[in-house]
Formats: sequence, structure tokens, C-alpha cells
Amino acid sequence: MRLAGRVALVTGSSRGIGAGIARRLAADGAHVVLHARSQRERAEGVAQAIRDAGGSAEVLMGDLAEGETASRLVAEAFALKGALDILVLNAGGGSSGLAQNLDLATIDRGLALNLRATILASAEFARLTQSPHGRIVFISSGRATHPAPGVSVGAAAKAGSEAFMRSLAQELGPRGITCNAVAPGCTRTEMIAGQTWPDAVP
Ligand code: NAP
Repeated sequence: MRLAGRVALVTGSSRGIGAGIARRLAADGAHVVLHARSQRERAEGVAQAIRDAGGSAEVLMGDLAEGETASRLVAEAFALKGALDILVLNAGGGSSGLAQNLDLATIDRGLALNLRATILASAEFARLTQSPHGRIVFISSGRATHPAPGVSVGAAAKAGSEAFMRSLAQELGPRGITCNAVAPGCTRTEMIAGQTWPDAVP
């Protein structure tokens, strides 16, 4: 229970990799704030499974590609317990299609979810947390460095978020807050279900 007493927010934790991260943090003793865009029932199911296993969890909602939702989400998570120690920025990904077919809405949404939300959420976390052992973990993708057709906007945004994390780490390190990016290998989640290997990794 090495995370006993810590509070963690995991974005996009109604399913897939985010749900797995949330369950693990809870098993290690953290109070976990789950988050989903639209699938509240599934997020509530993950929260119930955590509670059934002896952990502690609750659910917040919001579309991170919309306006300042990412800032609001972090503020709401902080307000639940008056503290926030761990921020896992997992929600993301998505195919944009071939670059020659991109329209403004697809570009804006891909950048908003995979880059702008990273910046907004991290900035709010930096403003609010007083934790001497704060942690920000951005879930990136191998596509930030290993290209594939059809995912150019998400890949560019993930690479931008990685650069943001490097800079933020220097700003927040003196406060004991670490900032890291982790790129999972190909993981069979709903995001890649039905897509064809090897272009499936978002
Ligand atoms: P997933 O199964 O599709 O789950 C996505 C989660 O993010 C869901 O909880 C979803 O909420 C939430 N979400 C999606 N769009 C959102 C939005 N606009 N606002 C707020 N929440 C949103 O995805 P996954 O495969 O677990 O991937 C998780 C992360 O790992 C992504 O950042 C992805 O790029 C990265 N990654 C995945 C792989 C892989 O092989 N799976 C590989 C490398 C990196 P709802 O359920 O409410 O829609």
C-alpha cells in the first residue's frame, strides 16, 4: 500500500489502458478519481470493482477536447479531497485519416485532446497541488517517434505533449513533482479493435 493517502486522477479510465492504470493505483492504496468522456456507466463499473477489492474510487465526466474541460476536471478532482498527488493523462489517441483529407474540425479535435488538454490539465495541477511528491504521467504513443499513415495529427500532438513534459519537468522538479511520458506498446483495447496491424497503434 505504498500509495496510501495519495489521491490520483486518471483521465480516460472507463476502459482500456486507463482502467488498468486506475485499478493498479487503487491496489497500491491511492484514492482514485476515474474519468470518462461519455461512458459514465462503464467508469462507475470500474469504480465499483475497485471498491469491491477494498479500494476507494469515484467518477468525474468531461470531454477533454472541449474548451477548458481539462482544467475544470483537475480542479474538480482536487476539490473532492482537497488534494491531488498523481495526474495520469491517459485519454487520447484516435485516427485522423490521410493528411490530404484533413479538415479543420479533425485537426482541432486531435490537437485539443492530445496536446491542449495535456497543457491545461498539467498547468492546473501545477497551480493547485501542494504535494511534495507530485507525479504527472502523460500516456504517449510510439507514433510520436515511429510514424504510420493515418495518425499524423495524433502523432504530432503526442510529440508536442512529450516536449511539454520535458519542459514542465524542469519547472516542477524543484517542487518534488516529476513529469514523465510513457509510450505503451500495442495493447489490445477497444481503440484498436477492428484496425489492422501494424497501423493499429494510435
Ligand atoms: P480506449 O480503450 O479507446 O479508451 C479511451 C479512454 O479515453 C476512454 O475512457 C474514453 O472515454 C476516453 N476518451 C476518449 N476521448 C476522450 C475525450 N475527448 N475526452 C475525454 N475522454 C476521452 O484507449 P486505449 O487504447 O486504452 O488508449 C489509452 C491511451 O493509450 C491513449 O492516449 C492512446 O493514445 C495510448 N496508447 C494506446 C496504445 C494501444 O495499443 N492501445 C498504444 C500506444 C498508446 P469514454 O469511454 O467515455 O469514451
